[in-house]
Amino acid sequence: MLKKLFKSLRSPLRRGKHPHSTPEVLSSSQHPINRGEISRYATSVVERLQHAGYQAYLVGGCVRDLLLDIDPKDFDVATSATPEQVRAEFRNARVIGRRFKLVHVHFGREIIEVATFRANHPEGDEEENSNLSSRNESGRILRDNVYGSLEDDAQRRDFTINALYYDPATERILDYANGVHDIRNHLIRLIGDPTQRYQEDPVRMLRAVRFAAKLDFDIEKHSAVPIYKLAPMLREIPSARLFEEVLKLFLAGYAEFTYELLVDYGLFGELFPASAAALKADPDYTDALIRNALISTDLRIQQKKTVTPAFLFAALLWPALPARVIKLQDRGMPAIPAMQEAAHELISEQCLRIAIPKRFTMPIREIWDMQERLPRRSGKRSDLLLENPRFRAGYDFLLLRESAGEQTGGLGDWWTAYQDASDSDRRGMIRDLSQEASGDAPRKRRRSGSKRKRAPGADGAPKPTARE
Ligand code: ATP
Ligand code: MG
Repeated sequence: MLKKLFKSLRSPLRRGKHPHSTPEVLSSSQHPINRGEISRYATSVVERLQHAGYQAYLVGGCVRDLLLDIDPKDFDVATSATPEQVRAEFRNARVIGRRFKLVHVHFGREIIEVATFRANHPEGDEEENSNLSSRNESGRILRDNVYGSLEDDAQRRDFTINALYYDPATERILDYANGVHDIRNHLIRLIGDPTQRYQEDPVRMLRAVRFAAKLDFDIEKHSAVPIYKLAPMLREIPSARLFEEVLKLFLAGYAEFTYELLVDYGLFGELFPASAAALKADPDYTDALIRNALISTDLRIQQKKTVTPAFLFAALLWPALPARVIKLQDRGMPAIPAMQEAAHELISEQCLRIAIPKRFTMPIREIWDMQERLPRRSGKRSDLLLENPRFRAGYDFLLLRESAGEQTGGLGDWWTAYQDASDSDRRGMIRDLSQEASGDAPRKRRRSGSKRKRAPGADGAPKPTARE
């Protein structure tokens, strides 16, 4: 497909990182996109706007992905119509966003996102447009609703490969920033001055990594180098936006590679400071646990199975628990409350960076609590645990811990066998457990009301220690 695209590209390619005011135009015979591959809703939105007298194009990821023979995730439209004008054209449209106003046109479950052409607003211009655009003192764009021409719009987009415009009516592609050249060379390149563009919106650093992982492209040198220095700017980004970005990073099917790039560029520590500290303190275990979680996430996505962000965050944060538990124990707190308190602290701190919603923080805690309960299998406990709606996630998490090298005394295998066993075999397995326990050392009977002391790490309970 790529061959076809570039063999037929007759006009010489212009180089340079600054966008042109006249685009490179690729006619339908010079590129491989055909209208049939495009959502008919997206085409109809563009045509409707064009009939109403506005300019309108498909833009961004969908054009890029179609050129690379990848199924686009969604279809974005750019137009000269303002959000209000777009809304007036469609009954099924809603204006959304504040920092960046957009229109969502709904067709059943499919949403076509329509953005008005925007201009880069030079620093110092804010006063005139203060209700439309604003920046903070480090140059970060806080509001971005200054509209502009098609040429302006191309210039304010993030990467050259995302600044390609496709007109379904003429089937032509307009390339203002040598995006086709960079697609051919597998390069992620920011439009304009990289440092300034990252300062305007530090999330672009995450986007660079996301596209590099998704497309298996390199980040072009000048776009790559500033990331190491500017990574801490991510702290300025509202935690709710970072939550959305983190989901995009890890739920797109390329999580393992994305994680590697995030670590390499120093971005991982800005998103997950406690996990990055664990990665330093206990690199092999932490890396294995996170990596294995991401590999299985990627696999599930490939198999079109559901994935829950709770499991992912539970795994990303788990290696950061031990240090905290030990600290609390050193202050005299018993093992189990220390574990509970550490979990609470860790999640609260993480939420300052990435606003994980309650509907996910609760299950994270439940998955972790399950790690305390899975080793305790006597009497009716095992059957009760099996009925727990969180059992499956807890069991999968146990296997994940084992895959990273945690010693649990064969707990994972035991639960695997227990789930498949008949009723009478299950009874036998429980009996064996108590015999094993009494064979080693006769257990003292607990007097009712006596406090139970049990160190985490015993019998496959979470092992929060480098010191056991
Ligand atoms: P995908 O949807 O496959 O993740 P995409 O490139 O379509 O990738 P979107 O987040 O849907 O990404 O954004 C659509 C387009 O809007 C991008 O291609 C880019 O041109 C522009 N864009 C998005 N976010 C930014 C940003 N932070 N700065 C500049 N341009 C952006
Ligand atoms: Mg998109």
